[in-house]
Amino acid sequence: VKLSSLGEFGLIDRLRRRTTPSPLAVRGIGDDCAQHRLPPDEELLTTMDLLLEGVHFRRDWTDLEHLGRKSVAVNVSDIAAMGGTPRFLYLGLGLPATATVEEVDAFAAGALAEAERYGVALAGGDTCRSASGWVIAVTVEGSAPAGQAVGRDGARPGDIVCVSGSLGDSALVLQRLQRNESMSSPLAQRHHAPPARVALGRALAQAGLATAMIDLSDGFAADLGHILEQSGCGAEVELDQLPLSAAFRAAGGTVELAVTGGEDYELLFTLPAARQGELSGLAQRLNLPLTPVGRIVAAPGLQLLAADGRRALPQGGFNHFG
Ligand SMILES: [Mg+2]
Repeated sequence: VKLSSLGEFGLIDRLRRRTTPSPLAVRGIGDDCAQHRLPPDEELLTTMDLLLEGVHFRRDWTDLEHLGRKSVAVNVSDIAAMGGTPRFLYLGLGLPATATVEEVDAFAAGALAEAERYGVALAGGDTCRSASGWVIAVTVEGSAPAGQAVGRDGARPGDIVCVSGSLGDSALVLQRLQRNESMSSPLAQRHHAPPARVALGRALAQAGLATAMIDLSDGFAADLGHILEQSGCGAEVELDQLPLSAAFRAAGGTVELAVTGGEDYELLFTLPAARQGELSGLAQRLNLPLTPVGRIVAAPGLQLLAADGRRALPQGGFNHFG
């Protein structure tokens, strides 16, 4: 069915009928602005992402339902990375003339399913005709009790560097897609439907355990680099401590890919060494591996230590390491 038969307002109405308003909504979709309360003494967290067809995604590598899921999950992941609770979703869609109602429905089904998974309510958006491919703009707002949100700037020398889940799975799937090879579905899920670690982020913020935190979108080394830059310190990471999944190893994934590959959407955080003992209980409670992989040092820069614990691999030479 041609989208033009529905019209812009028809499309918005179609989406609105499939959403449940947030309990915090004063006025939802249909007015000039969404109007919300926040829980008492909470601060607002806002993040947005722009996804362009041909730049950030390819229609032949991903279906629209997964694209809908992922576009919501990556924004929820940013709220998780601050230790917040995701609450409101805003969706902007630029649609090519060839887009059909069925395609928009598939995208919306994925986006709304993921929103529901994280307790996020669609609270507004906009649609228009795109001159070329799909344009997807997603904004997610969340909140955290005042003073609890965790930034990238709090890491201090002596802190432990820790990462959730496993590294490199998503990058391995992308690498195979680029070679026109398919992957087994558990690994493929890690790329097409990445998790947002909301419960972990909240728990770390609530306990005041994380001194700095970021979600892994650009890759372990690059994202740790963001923490180091903002915190004004350096880090030593033991490469043989990096958590690699059995499926990743079996499929030939390398340590280099785990360090440089993006889109894991795990949380990378630092914590005081004296509180490292609290990690195992938290990991057990959340049923999610939390792996210490290194420490924060005063000297700037990221040192990647090989298995013998001595040989420092300069980042610039890392491309030759395999
Ligand atoms: Mg982020």
